[in-house]
Amino acid sequence: MSHQVTAVDEWTKPLPQPDNVSGPYWQAAAEGRLLVQQCPKCGNRQFYPRALCTVCAADPEWLECSGRGTVHTFTVVRQNGARPFRDELPYAVAMVELEEGPMMMGSITDCDADDVRIGMPVEVHFLKAADDIGIPYWRPAS
Ligand SMILES: [Zn+2]
Repeated sequence: MSHQVTAVDEWTKPLPQPDNVSGPYWQAAAEGRLLVQQCPKCGNRQFYPRALCTVCAADPEWLECSGRGTVHTFTVVRQNGARPFRDELPYAVAMVELEEGPMMMGSITDCDADDVRIGMPVEVHFLKAADDIGIPYWRPAS
């Protein structure tokens, strides 16, 4: 399932540093797909990407997610002196519980920060920070 990817003229926020483990995650995000890891031996699902299953140490595989989840908890950031974040104040940062189970942190867009609620259904969209790096953001589910 592919989700909206918005091109960004110039990415001014810190860039992730993809490595052998996380590279496929960032690449998929650049293509509008959200991945977590799933263990082929024990079924454990995990995020962020790791070299080994955190339960049984097997090699994890990639699982493509629906891109839907709910807000598990969140905070509204009202002070941040660093550009470009200070230009976006106030903004909500949430721990999103994916339909597939793992939690993922991200900013909530397309809604007033004060309207974010625990349990709110959200869906992913991506900003393309580089050719091989997409950054997941969340907005109220349509
Ligand atoms: Zn496992």
